[in-house]
Amino acid sequence: IIARSQSSGRGRLGRSFFSPTGGLYMSLLLYPQIHASDALTITTTAATAVATAIDAIAGTRCEIKWVNDVYLRERKVCGILTESQISESGMLDFAVLGIGVNLVAPEGGFPDDISMRAGAVFDTLPHGAASELTAGIVNEFFRLYDSPHDVCLQKYRERSNLIGREVDVMRVVDGTTTPAKVVAIDDSYALIVEFENGTKEALSSGEVSIREHK
Ligand code: ATP
Repeated sequence: IIARSQSSGRGRLGRSFFSPTGGLYMSLLLYPQIHASDALTITTTAATAVATAIDAIAGTRCEIKWVNDVYLRERKVCGILTESQISESGMLDFAVLGIGVNLVAPEGGFPDDISMRAGAVFDTLPHGAASELTAGIVNEFFRLYDSPHDVCLQKYRERSNLIGREVDVMRVVDGTTTPAKVVAIDDSYALIVEFENGTKEALSSGEVSIREHK
């Protein structure tokens, strides 16, 4: 399903995703034959696919902020949300992959609460770019999705903008924030961080939000 605006776009953890006219919003219904423990690969593969497709059309170099955001020129230009139903056996019954791309900035700019973070791919939308990008994302996603795990992982890591950076780790469960340094992304896409006391932890995307440490 492809839309040019959404009335109640949403992100992870019940957050809203601002989806005015001027963006590209798509949901893909997937029937992946994978275990729920591997479901994150849908999101990470989509992030790589979006970044690759934008770069091919706009001549840019997009980065991925773990785990599900695509950044261009230090601004978030795309959010990704995968929701799924899990069967009793632990396999996915189906998944809905939602992708929202800011093609151009809305008239009057982004709302105050995201104006420091959000950005757009284009200053003005080139003719045909929305359709071209839609096709590019879908093609790139399915091409990558059929690739071996290590290929997807390598492409994802290459675009990661957090490795080596100082960040704040915010725990969803209690809202506490702890400074840490990002060391790596492991083979199951967990973010490996080192805290100031030297301990390391593999962070799961469902439990934390990462903010760059200013
Ligand atoms: P975090 O970085 O805190 O882990 P997230 O990046 O995973 O969160 P999502 O939950 O995927 O974010 O998306 C919702 C968040 O994205 C909102 O809380 C808001 O900060 C930001 N946001 C909302 N709409 C847009 C938009 N159109 N463009 C860029 N950022 C947006």
